[in-house]
Amino acid sequence: MTEQHTSNPPAVATVEQRAAAIEAALQAQGLPAAQHIQQSVHLAEEVWLPQRGARVVAKAWTDPAFRQRLLDNGVAAVAELGIEMPRHHRHLVALENTPTVHNVICCTLCSCTAFTVIGLPPDWYKDLEYRARVVRESRSVLKDMGLNLPAEVQIRVWDTTADTRYMVLPVRPEGTEGWSEERLAALVTKDGMIGVASI
Ligand code: FE
Repeated sequence: MTEQHTSNPPAVATVEQRAAAIEAALQAQGLPAAQHIQQSVHLAEEVWLPQRGARVVAKAWTDPAFRQRLLDNGVAAVAELGIEMPRHHRHLVALENTPTVHNVICCTLCSCTAFTVIGLPPDWYKDLEYRARVVRESRSVLKDMGLNLPAEVQIRVWDTTADTRYMVLPVRPEGTEGWSEERLAALVTKDGMIGVASI
């Protein structure tokens, strides 16, 4: 059986038109969509920033007791720094890199991240290509992204689920002994906490 294709597909509303229609429908139900959107934009652009996760990493590097609490119960440990997680993010698992083990995270299903801690996922994280390839050929994906790991370093790929979120704890760089938490935090990037960069 072959599918029938018409030469004139039905007109489809633009994204803007569809968004406006949804907003109007919510408004008609007494649900203030505009206010909700404004709040979401505020959270995404000013609150859920990777600098939060960077503080977590820097504290773990400088405070062994905190590092242990982070490894034991990530949600409780980040709460110590005033970082909340949505209730459905039931677990935050900190994946500690070592000189011989490198961790990298993905969400093969969609785009899940611990976004209140490490920031919203980058566009490439949501691409089917990253989601599919990082599982099967993680070493070459990381190399393509600029992280060329020595052959002896084992790579562990972690697939996020709705209720279990991850953050990578990078290896503290050499030559940073005695640095303040603030100075250390400035080294840490979102890519490092996803695991596609060394830090
Ligand atoms: Fe997801």
